[in-house]
Amino acid sequence: MSVRTIVTVPNDVLRRKARPVTKFDDKLKTLIDDMIETMREAPGVGLAAPQVAVPERVIVVEFGDEEDEEVPPKLYVMVNPEVTRSSNDTEIGVEGCLSVPGLVGEVERSVSVTIKGKNRHGQPMRLKAKGWLARIFLHEIDHLDGILFTDLATSIWQPEEPIEDRV
Ligand code: ZN
Repeated sequence: MSVRTIVTVPNDVLRRKARPVTKFDDKLKTLIDDMIETMREAPGVGLAAPQVAVPERVIVVEFGDEEDEEVPPKLYVMVNPEVTRSSNDTEIGVEGCLSVPGLVGEVERSVSVTIKGKNRHGQPMRLKAKGWLARIFLHEIDHLDGILFTDLATSIWQPEEPIEDRV
């Protein structure tokens, strides 16, 4: 495993629509392992392949229970993720992105989502997420479509200290 460089705006790869993964081979496994290591090193709680300059539909997320700090963070790897359901219920949260250093913004997103995709072996998977976990998944899936939180934010500012849980 190795830590890859996280690309930042205005790198063009962040604005491209990433292509679906078709081969579940060793190259994909290496990409996933490197993304996990890169996310942990950043540190962040989510990372999409375009953020390491690979325009493919792969995301990793590692996040614990927002209400219970005793629960260890859970790692999710998803290939070709798609949002199949998102609640009409929305909430506003403050997001920061590893690829947009120095800025945060308020983004309105669905409170709960259902996402389907494949795991690293190419087997179908489906999950439900709510709250911050849902937000992280939506942020990462946006990256696969070349969308950054700054496109969606209703307000953007420079925080005095970098926020935790960047994605
Ligand atoms: Zn991001």
